[in-house]
Amino acid sequence: MRRIVVIGGGISGLAAAHRLIEIDPSVDLTLIEASARLGGTLRTDQRDGFLLERGPDSFISEKPEAVALAKRLGLESRLIETNSDHRRSFIVRNGRLRQVPEGFQLLAPSRIWPFLTTDIFSLAGKARMSADLFLPRAITNGTNDESLASFVRRRLGREALERMAQPMVGGIYTADPETLSLRATLPRFLDMERDHRSLILGMLRKGRSQTGTSGARYSLFLSFDEGLQVLVDALTKAIAGCQVRLNTKVVGIERHSGWLIKTGKEDTIEADAICLAVPAYIAAQLLTSVDQTLASQLNKIRYASTATINFAYRRDAIQHPLDGFGFVVPFVEKRSLIACTFSNVKFPGRAPSGHTLLRAFAGGALQPDLFALEAPEMLRRVEHDLRELLRIDGKPLFAEVSKWSNSMPQYEVGHLDRVAAIENQLAQLPNLTLAGNAYRGAGIPDCIRSGESAAEKLINYFGSGIASA
Ligand SMILES: Cc1cc2nc3c(=O)[nH]c(=O)nc-3n(C[C@H](O)[C@H](O)[C@H](O)COP(=O)(O)OP(=O)(O)OC[C@H]3O[C@@H](n4cnc5c(N)ncnc54)[C@H](O)[C@@H]3O)c2cc1C
Repeated sequence: MRRIVVIGGGISGLAAAHRLIEIDPSVDLTLIEASARLGGTLRTDQRDGFLLERGPDSFISEKPEAVALAKRLGLESRLIETNSDHRRSFIVRNGRLRQVPEGFQLLAPSRIWPFLTTDIFSLAGKARMSADLFLPRAITNGTNDESLASFVRRRLGREALERMAQPMVGGIYTADPETLSLRATLPRFLDMERDHRSLILGMLRKGRSQTGTSGARYSLFLSFDEGLQVLVDALTKAIAGCQVRLNTKVVGIERHSGWLIKTGKEDTIEADAICLAVPAYIAAQLLTSVDQTLASQLNKIRYASTATINFAYRRDAIQHPLDGFGFVVPFVEKRSLIACTFSNVKFPGRAPSGHTLLRAFAGGALQPDLFALEAPEMLRRVEHDLRELLRIDGKPLFAEVSKWSNSMPQYEVGHLDRVAAIENQLAQLPNLTLAGNAYRGAGIPDCIRSGESAAEKLINYFGSGIASA
């Protein structure tokens, strides 16, 4: 029987292990996880009637892999959509929350009137953004990639970058817009310039059919009734037949006819094939003695750290109407948080009646100093800003900080070329696959896709002898 070992029990590793078992229930599979629990950054806790998402809180349904997996796991009835009221978000300007204009999609407006009347931009800022209507296409630099900052400054001006693109996109990727690759994250905007010349014209043409929402297209975001932990628990149950080794850190791997996996517990595990579902810098460490070129390519993918802080309040302590799903904070506002979700407005069942759950983000590529603070000091600063921004009286009932160190890969300009080089080099090791958020998408559906395709590659490696899906 072929022995397969998956290293890393986050959503990518769980998806890989599950797909292996789905294809061949008799596979000899071991899943090794360094920490005491499966799920990686997916973690939901319950406290005093509140449902706390410590990592992600939702996934996008536009990418089908998470919904498809949920259905295969029998979880369809537990999927929940975002609240159909208040599908809007806010951006902070001069210390106040302003609504993202209807039809605005991350970088540019798809509707003229909400854009003209918004108070997020100054008159001069709007005039500069409108110049996009007349500006010529860029002369391509041959690399087919550009940083978010360079692109937005060029087409829409500095204010559009500082007040909209940085906080909206930074909120998703916790990234520095000066280095974030547009090709790897939002290629549709580069394509829009190529096809329509003007982003605004392109958005207007595409956006005519999409009205009634502002900011992110929230109807596309989903979770589960009891949070994302539902997915982790179902996957854990589905792979119960395989050997799961928690609290076991892999410290090295060696190649012989197959693989020898060394753990921190000073034992070794033999495998015919492995899937490395760990962050790229860990994969690099583990592969140093196997393939130095691959290890140094993996090391080129940099990471940022981010924290979430869940604040539980009585509803009447907060004066802001909380009539949206949350807000993002431009870096130029000089605040200690980068975004905040009104969790119980966004999804049902997140707080007891008469209460509110706020989920703030801090750190990211632009504010590493904040992430470096001890949890109590980080909490104090974020709470102070929330108090001002949402007009809160009094202290939260409780607050919980979750620090995710080096958790968010930074898709910097040239990222897709770096990933192509990694994949090219990896082709020389057919019984090794990589999965995770570092390569071709950092969202949950991307991670599931990467885990499942890593599993399928390993099954293909063994040939049709094992089974076919
Ligand atoms: C705060 C935060 C909020 C987010 N919000 C969203 C969101 O709302 N929607 C969305 O789609 N995405 C979101 N993301 C992104 C998404 O959650 C992650 O990209 C995804 O969960 C990463 O999964 P993974 O399995 O690739 O990595 P991880 O979750 O990091 O899992 C890797 C696992 O490998 C283990 N490991 C590491 N080293 C070793 C070793 N040497 N030996 C054994 N095991 C090891 C780790 O302990 C860990 O469990 C968010 C991310 C963060 C950090």
